[in-house]
Amino acid sequence: MRKTIIAGNWKMFTTKSEAESLAKGLAAEVGSVTEVEIVVCPPAINIETVISAVAGTSLKVGAQNLYLGKEGAFTGETSAPMIVSHNCNYVIIGHSERRQHFGETDSSVNQKVKTAFEYGLIPIVCVGETLEERESDRTFELIATQLKAGLADLSGEVLTQNKPIVIAYEPVWAIGTGKVASPAQAQDVHAFIRGQLASIFSEAKAASIQIQYGGSVKPENSKELMGQPDIDGALVGGASLKADSFSAIIKACI
Ligand code: PEP
Repeated sequence: MRKTIIAGNWKMFTTKSEAESLAKGLAAEVGSVTEVEIVVCPPAINIETVISAVAGTSLKVGAQNLYLGKEGAFTGETSAPMIVSHNCNYVIIGHSERRQHFGETDSSVNQKVKTAFEYGLIPIVCVGETLEERESDRTFELIATQLKAGLADLSGEVLTQNKPIVIAYEPVWAIGTGKVASPAQAQDVHAFIRGQLASIFSEAKAASIQIQYGGSVKPENSKELMGQPDIDGALVGGASLKADSFSAIIKACI
């Protein structure tokens, strides 16, 4: 049985005091929820503030990105051990905004997933097609490539060492646009992703991996999306920036 996992991607929003009050608001609203796994991913500079604000609650904290290796002369980057040292459990990898604005590729995604595993972080690996790819009927081909390349050579860690991994299906055309994939559209792709995971790892492993949907998830549409058999949670952007809307999404899934 897969547990629903709802993660909030705060992107480059929140100052220190805004992060603190958002985290405290969430802790008050949903900090005792255990039926659903809840993760918040603030900007790296606010991780410490958020970790303190949610201490003693069921909320987990993740990073939005990492860079390869333990440390080094990479100005502006954050390493996995730095993230882990703040007691973060998760890291988002390969978000479409990183692919679009920072040149990330399936190959860099693959290296970053390996780094996350090496340091004990659970990667939330994002895949998804652009509008042009969907309209030219290339959604499944694109997702298959992203998964195959992004998850290459990881069977040892995932199968033998049982390292957890989360996949987020985020159609690029639905991110921050208010256009949400219909539950049937999303379910089709999620079922396809599970099939791909079965061939990359194994049938049993694929059945245990949580696959989130992301793209304009709101309190009004979350219940129906989460009710689909292969949708195991959500990666939420805009609606995660208000304690009441993010909490409503979570409560709708209980
Ligand atoms: C996201 O940033 O991952 C996302 C899904 O954003 P939004 O919910 O705003 O579409």
